[in-house]
Amino acid sequence: MRAVLLAEDSKVLAAAIKKQIESELKISVKCAYNYDETIEYLNDNRNNFFAAIVNYHFTGALDGQAIDLVLSRGVPVIVFTGEFNEELQKRLWEKKVADYVLKDGTLNISYLVSIIQRIYRNDKIKVLVVDDSKIFRSHISKLLAVHKYIVFEAASGTEALDIINKNPDIKLIITDYEMPKMDGLKLIKEIRKKYNKEELSVIGISSYGSENMSAIFIKNGANDFLNKPFQSEEFYCRVSQNVEMIEYIEAVRDVSNRDYLTKLYNRRYFFEAAALIYANAMRKNIEITLTMLDIDFFKKVNDTYGHDAGDIVLKEISSVLNSSFRQSDVVARFGGEEFCIITSNMAKTNVRSHFEDLLKKIEDLEIKANDKIIKITVSMGVCTKLLDSLDSMIKQADKMLYKAKETGRNRICYY
Ligand code: GH3
Ligand code: MG
Ligand code: MG
Ligand code: MG
Repeated sequence: MRAVLLAEDSKVLAAAIKKQIESELKISVKCAYNYDETIEYLNDNRNNFFAAIVNYHFTGALDGQAIDLVLSRGVPVIVFTGEFNEELQKRLWEKKVADYVLKDGTLNISYLVSIIQRIYRNDKIKVLVVDDSKIFRSHISKLLAVHKYIVFEAASGTEALDIINKNPDIKLIITDYEMPKMDGLKLIKEIRKKYNKEELSVIGISSYGSENMSAIFIKNGANDFLNKPFQSEEFYCRVSQNVEMIEYIEAVRDVSNRDYLTKLYNRRYFFEAAALIYANAMRKNIEITLTMLDIDFFKKVNDTYGHDAGDIVLKEISSVLNSSFRQSDVVARFGGEEFCIITSNMAKTNVRSHFEDLLKKIEDLEIKANDKIIKITVSMGVCTKLLDSLDSMIKQADKMLYKAKETGRNRICYY
């Protein structure tokens, strides 16, 4: 399991930081109270540290040796120190620490938690750096690598567009202005044809001596800007803030598209997504399958084991459904204990065996709730024919579900 190394000699402070990180982020923290313990922890390869919080003046390593040690193991270091000293700060940034936090209040512990969370998530976040200067490009890439982002580099606008096409999940682009052929502004205009500011963040870098570039960047679709030259600290603040904004918006979208209990898509989102799948299927004459699924005798589960056990059953079934279909399919909670699934590109010969397997998988589940094992079955109505509207497909699947219930439950009827 990934953990945080905390090299802090004050046991009281260490306990406070450990408690806050563990309770807020559910990430485990190992405390080393002196230099020797730090070495021991690093040498124990059961510890998979993705970040470390390290004191500058530390028992057994009074002059930052613990920082060098941790950095030499490839673990990002957040320096935590009582000393504010510009000279020291400059030296630390040169060592390529991830951040520098002063020990002067509870607010800074919250900041520590937020930076740890940032680094924890960054190894799934793709960032593209666009600059024709190799030196500058690699300078920015190195800064990003310290914070563990997945970094891509492009030497020109056209190269950048190519990388974006291949990696549509890039979340942040940092681009220079002056580049041959396609400059930073033209690049942003191209990017904005496909991605809006809420999906993909762009930070423009204003070159030396052109102060108004920052406004021009923003007016042309950039989210933010940085003036060259910039300090590492400012760079990280801008990058983190822009990535966080994208994450917040994604989280809000998710809340509005998903059901709170099961985290499956909700009914509203289902109609939005299914309409696109249906239209595409009509255009290309692709087979799609629409399934209505309902838990059998669910009321009895609530009555026998309690409503909270019923909720656990719903979550468990949802998780099975979610893992039984592809990313391109839509699995939604339609209401109560009823689910609707739309799948495309499933070979007709495979449809039946796929759903029969699912039926069996659910029948075999042993759901643990309130120290009891709950067994459950479901019934399904499946429409495998592309009808003249999505609505008719839902109606037919619903009729088949009714038939499955009528004829004994724990079965599938096909239209
Ligand atoms: P059938 O086999 O005919 O589908 O019987 P059933 O008992 O599953 O169907 P019925 O429609 O009679 O009951 C559905 C129950 O689902 C009633 C309702 O209290 C329960 N339910 C709906 N939403 C939730 C929920 O979010 N949590 C829990 N625990 N129960 C829920
Ligand atoms: Mg340039
Ligand atoms: Mg039911
Ligand atoms: Mg029902």
